[in-house]
Amino acid sequence: MSVNTSHKLDTFTCSWCGLVVSTYAADGARRNHCPSCLRSQHVLDQIEGGPSDCGARMSPISIAVLRGGEWMLVHRCVRCDELTANPICADDNQLVLMRIAVRPLAEPPFPLETFGSL
Ligand SMILES: [Zn+2]
Ligand SMILES: [Zn+2]
Repeated sequence: MSVNTSHKLDTFTCSWCGLVVSTYAADGARRNHCPSCLRSQHVLDQIEGGPSDCGARMSPISIAVLRGGEWMLVHRCVRCDELTANPICADDNQLVLMRIAVRPLAEPPFPLETFGSL
């Protein structure tokens, strides 16, 4: 992907925490979520040609790890429940990322003691 410097000036304002975010990360990657609170917005370019770009806010619900080890952040739209996955950026809030990643382990739907008796 070539880096177009004119894009560096694009910004959007996070509708959750109010942070003014540069649309392109330092390495030129397109950014779709806020690096501070990691929340996003359901807009047209989220999924190209997607059926329901409703403009509502999207919450980060989990981390998906690709075969190469790359982390994807999974968002769910609060209005239409559409799911999207986007690569994380180098300057994303790592504490929030870790919280999302360990959430299922911190709140297992079954008692962990079961593993001791297997
Ligand atoms: Zn934010
Ligand atoms: Zn939506």
